[in-house]
Amino acid sequence: MNEKKYPNVIISGLGISGLITASLLCKEKIKVECFEPHDISKFHADQRTTAFLNPAIEVFKEIGIWEEIEPFSQPLKEMEIIDVGSQKKERPGRVVFEPKEVNIENFGYNVPNSILRLKLLAWLKKNQNFVLNIGDSIVKHYAFDDNILVRTSKGKELNGKLLISCEGKESAIRKREKINTIKTSYSQLAMVFQVSHSRKHKDRTTEILDVGGPFTIIPLRASSKQSQSTIVWMDNSDAIDEAYNLENAEFNSLISKKSLGIRGNIKIVGKRQTWPVSSQLSKTLISKRTVLIAESAHVMPPTGAQGLNTSVEDIIALHNICKKALKNNEDIGSDRVLRQYNIKRFPLTGSKVFGIHLLNKISMTENSFLRIARKNFLMYLNHSPFLKRTLIKAGLGK
Ligand SMILES: Cc1cc2nc3c(=O)[nH]c(=O)nc-3n(C[C@H](O)[C@H](O)[C@H](O)COP(=O)(O)OP(=O)(O)OC[C@H]3O[C@@H](n4cnc5c(N)ncnc54)[C@H](O)[C@@H]3O)c2cc1C
Repeated sequence: MNEKKYPNVIISGLGISGLITASLLCKEKIKVECFEPHDISKFHADQRTTAFLNPAIEVFKEIGIWEEIEPFSQPLKEMEIIDVGSQKKERPGRVVFEPKEVNIENFGYNVPNSILRLKLLAWLKKNQNFVLNIGDSIVKHYAFDDNILVRTSKGKELNGKLLISCEGKESAIRKREKINTIKTSYSQLAMVFQVSHSRKHKDRTTEILDVGGPFTIIPLRASSKQSQSTIVWMDNSDAIDEAYNLENAEFNSLISKKSLGIRGNIKIVGKRQTWPVSSQLSKTLISKRTVLIAESAHVMPPTGAQGLNTSVEDIIALHNICKKALKNNEDIGSDRVLRQYNIKRFPLTGSKVFGIHLLNKISMTENSFLRIARKNFLMYLNHSPFLKRTLIKAGLGK
């Protein structure tokens, strides 16, 4: 009897989305050859944590690494939004979303990026279908009817059935394919840092809306006293640059004030990191034997925990389509198979990018009329369980 022949796939870029994609495809016995130009041992410097929603946790369980990640992951039980409003003398508006409102135990988990990368890479390195090329990148690719050929900066030549770009927002593959993007920049930066605080977080995430962008306090599993969190502070670039350069004592009093005292005294632990904020949508997600996923295809501001969660949705969709094609002995890089991916994902990613763009615009507005409307809407939610449930479900991608 002939043994089934499994195709090989080439992945360019080993950020978190590249690592998750490689893991799921390796599980299907597909040979996955990955290229990453940067030194991945430096990736532990990423201070960010990702609020992963439940579909992503299911993926980690499917790969078989959740047991190793769970001890570092903080369950996200409640989501509170506080709107400072336009009149400083007024009481802030406040709404709390609870998972039990949509009959789930928690919204997801807050996972440190560095731990996740480490565990995924360790899992992959034990898998015989995984081939890692560090310090090398694809500089040319040629798609044919039956395969795709890539050439790398170190002179390697390789054939595969499918090329997947997980190269992030500046994807070179996307540029070589001349796939245009729609892009918006907000003159905003996101500053990320970890803090300790004197009041317990009680598993609650709090997003504070004022002007310039949201100030979000996301609980961390780091200690049993519930006294550590990650803060993502989005604001206009000047405000963030100024805060970035403050001495720790001044910085601590600024962030304690920004957090309205809800976590008591706050002190920064570790370094501050800043990230540019932008939106970007690729005009298509595929070309011949090539697929763009994650930030190669869509970028959104880090509000509402949608960026990487949307990427995980891409990966789940691609994995399912490849699994079905393999089962039917179809070529996983054929136009027919890739078109299924584009039809499924393009409208969803487009609407997600647009929705988060609007949310960001509303959260950063300085217009007092819009700020009053924003606060009134938030207060109205407290009297409309149906609308609240609908919003929770939209945030969870249901
Ligand atoms: C402050 C902040 C907080 C966030 N919080 C959340 C959150 O709570 N929840 C959420 O869902 N999302 C969140 N996000 C979004 C999330 O972090 C990103 O969506 C995610 O990091 C993007 O991952 P990626 O793998 O697509 O891209 P990247 O992480 O950019 O990885 C791309 C990889 O490709 C490599 N590369 C680049 N060029 C090439 C090339 N030519 N060839 C080969 N490789 C190449 C790079 O070295 C890199 O390793 C946040 C983002 C920010 C900025």
